[in-house]
Amino acid sequence: MSAEDRLQGYVGRVRRILEDAGAEIGDEIEVRVGEKTYRGILIARYELADPDHVVLKLPSGYNIGIRMTGDISVRRIAKARKPGFTPPPRPEAKPGLPKVTIVSTGGTIASRIDYRTGGVKPALNAEDLLSIVPELSEIAELDSEILFSMFSEDMTPGLWNQMAERVHRLIESGVDGVVIAHGTDTMGYSSAALSFALQKPPIPIVFVGAQRSSDRPSSDAATNLIAAVRVAGHAPFAEVCLTMHAWHSDDVIAVHRGTRVRKLHTSSRDAFRSVNHEPIAYVVGGEIKVNTEGLNPRGGDGYRFRPGFSEKAALVKFYPGMGPEIFEVLAERGIRGIIVEGSGLGHVANRLIPTLKRLIEEGIFIGMASQCIWGRVNMRVYQTGRDLLRIGVVSLDDMLAETAYVKLSWCLAQTDDLDEVRRLMLTPIAGEVGARSLPTRAEGVVA
Ligand code: ASP
Repeated sequence: MSAEDRLQGYVGRVRRILEDAGAEIGDEIEVRVGEKTYRGILIARYELADPDHVVLKLPSGYNIGIRMTGDISVRRIAKARKPGFTPPPRPEAKPGLPKVTIVSTGGTIASRIDYRTGGVKPALNAEDLLSIVPELSEIAELDSEILFSMFSEDMTPGLWNQMAERVHRLIESGVDGVVIAHGTDTMGYSSAALSFALQKPPIPIVFVGAQRSSDRPSSDAATNLIAAVRVAGHAPFAEVCLTMHAWHSDDVIAVHRGTRVRKLHTSSRDAFRSVNHEPIAYVVGGEIKVNTEGLNPRGGDGYRFRPGFSEKAALVKFYPGMGPEIFEVLAERGIRGIIVEGSGLGHVANRLIPTLKRLIEEGIFIGMASQCIWGRVNMRVYQTGRDLLRIGVVSLDDMLAETAYVKLSWCLAQTDDLDEVRRLMLTPIAGEVGARSLPTRAEGVVA
């Protein structure tokens, strides 16, 4: 390893102080600034970060930046230990419990901190998750598989397809429920994807993520996972759904419908909300409380496996000042359908209408969702909306824009016929549109 690597990201005076102390990334060091003393593991910095700070990972798991000015000294206490993790032995399975398989795709829930870089890396496999959350063995007879080891921002329609195929095989193998551990960034897209590919499944398919990795004291990984396994193994309904904290505390976990859920906060543990819908259930004190009527029942016989996602769909947000170029380029690149996140009731600037008209005439599907998030598209109220309807833009009602994009990707893989794409987009398939409007965003409503 080069000298450069050993103090990655540290430059100038601070770097020299660390060098003089013989400290390297990953070492346990003590930093004294005036009266204050800090102990922790020296972690790497981004090249562009402020050069006057040293970053330590404290024993609590949190990182602290220390400004290295005034009376300072640094002492190396211990050499870096290679980060390692030995899971405790897996608890004995209890007889008679439902069989649940955890499929790990990566993300924070399946991650550990890399102390060398300070970053979070997908590293824990599902087997590790089981052994560090021993309560799970009281809830279900567990099995685990690693499908991907990635952050969800790298997910693609092709990978949704692989995920659907894997879950289909598990359904055929006779398990009672499937949990999919997933990064939170695009978990709502994946849960929508599986809702279209695995229609009316006989068992629950439960997505779960974590906003804080499992080595942090405030991690939500264990509580979310326990709730997900409970839903997968014991819920009376068989829906593609997503379990995450309902609010900041650990006592209520919300179960959201796979096509109606959105990540609405960058960091908070209750980042996910059902949109234009209530959560379908809550897990409160280990009990599942069903919150919605008419859910697909466990063990029903209407299951249809319809895989396939096309890479030829796009999602575009309208903004004031937008020109037609984005649409033109997408058409040139062979995109076959576009979901537009329009303003308000479903609008774009009038100057874009001739371009959209041409694209529709060329056989490209254009669907309208709203960037308002809450409420439904209604393109009959204003002249702009009526003009968009007249050229053939399809109004997507109260469907979330991301869900509309996933559904379009799915539709384009099912058929080449544009009329059939239009028909499918307007046919409710997995609870993605609703007749009833919720008056508000139902903030903080729990059972
Ligand atoms: N960027 C991460 C991901 O979506 C965040 C997380 O895991 O929650 O994979």
